Amino acid sequence: MQFETSFARRRTRSIQVGTVPVGGDAPISVQSMTTTKTADVEGTLAQIYALAGAGCDIVRCTCNEAEAAEGLARIVPRSPLPIIADIHNNHRMALAALEAGVHGLRLNPGNIRRPEHIKAVASACRDRGVSIRIGVNGGSLDESLYRKYGGRVTPEAMVESAMMELAYFADVDFDLVKISVKASNVPLTIEAYRQLAEATDFPLHLGVTEAGPPPAGLVKATAGIATLLAEGIGDTIRYSLTADPVEEARAGRQLLEAMGLRERKNVDLIACPSCGRAEVDVIDVATRAMEAFGDRQIPLQVAVMGCVVNGPGEARDADIGIAAGNKRGHLFVKGRNVAVVPEADMVEALVEWAEYIQAHGVEAALSRADIAVAEREARKDRQRLLEDQGEDVNDSETRVELIRSTMTR
Ligand code: SF4
Repeated sequence: MQFETSFARRRTRSIQVGTVPVGGDAPISVQSMTTTKTADVEGTLAQIYALAGAGCDIVRCTCNEAEAAEGLARIVPRSPLPIIADIHNNHRMALAALEAGVHGLRLNPGNIRRPEHIKAVASACRDRGVSIRIGVNGGSLDESLYRKYGGRVTPEAMVESAMMELAYFADVDFDLVKISVKASNVPLTIEAYRQLAEATDFPLHLGVTEAGPPPAGLVKATAGIATLLAEGIGDTIRYSLTADPVEEARAGRQLLEAMGLRERKNVDLIACPSCGRAEVDVIDVATRAMEAFGDRQIPLQVAVMGCVVNGPGEARDADIGIAAGNKRGHLFVKGRNVAVVPEADMVEALVEWAEYIQAHGVEAALSRADIAVAEREARKDRQRLLEDQGEDVNDSETRVELIRSTMTR
């Protein structure tokens, strides 16, 4: 049985980004950003479709030139996801993106500074019911705030930047807002969001900016985002990785699923770390299984285990799993042995049984199996391995004895 957690979520207002609600009781959404030139309509749409397949809910495209805005006019009607236009220094690009029909804008208060420009964009968004993210970035903080806080980027300075922008919006009666205060430094990011969550009830977009390439980038982004989510802070998230954006979307989705904040959509692949008992190259089988399942929408927990001695027991909560033993793969469903296949067919069999469970359910899978035969074969292979390797294949008990004798010497 999976242990379900629930993190009490901070109460926020709710806004819409196209068809996707953000804030309030809405599920925490996953965002990413295309890396193509927005003027390249087909290339950008192909990436948006790939992102949607990987669990992305909202996508952002840069709108840095007239050709990009024109591209957006062609992309928006064909996109499976709501589109947010990323605006840099030129407020006219924001107005052009609105003409293109985008569902949201992202403005960096450090870039567009003139109040009349900010208000012109906010007024146009108000009239169209389009939301804006105030995207404060530690690396491009307004110069005056930077000086005010002693030439350093501080959480207070980032929050003040967001609040100043909010005040301009309030002047023109615009409040379809979400806010981010990202930095590349994880503790700074966390503290800025904590302070922001105290200061306002607008929905928050979480992220650690310029986290870098995986795996370090993944670790940094997860450290920041997961810490805040566990404190109930955050309504939508983005991993900023130096990688294919599909990896960002996958990571975002997997984090939310792992924290019990979104329903599982794809396979949750678990695998043992391998040890002296392993009968196969667990890393290889797990990698091939991950590739075979890809982004297919099979919301099951699938286990790859290195040996039949301990595997089925250690992964008894998985919906389906396979454990190696004596050149064979032992398939198990909810801890019950259901089939034995040649080692070379392990991944294929795993996918086939997962598809069957997805289509017909666990009970049907168990009743199509010859459990008695599968259990007998698993017992045989387990016994053979124990005879070959002994009970203490990892030499743990021998080492414990050695330690004890050293200590008493
Ligand atoms: S005992 Fe078996 S299942 Fe457990 S880590 Fe070792 S190989 Fe994997």
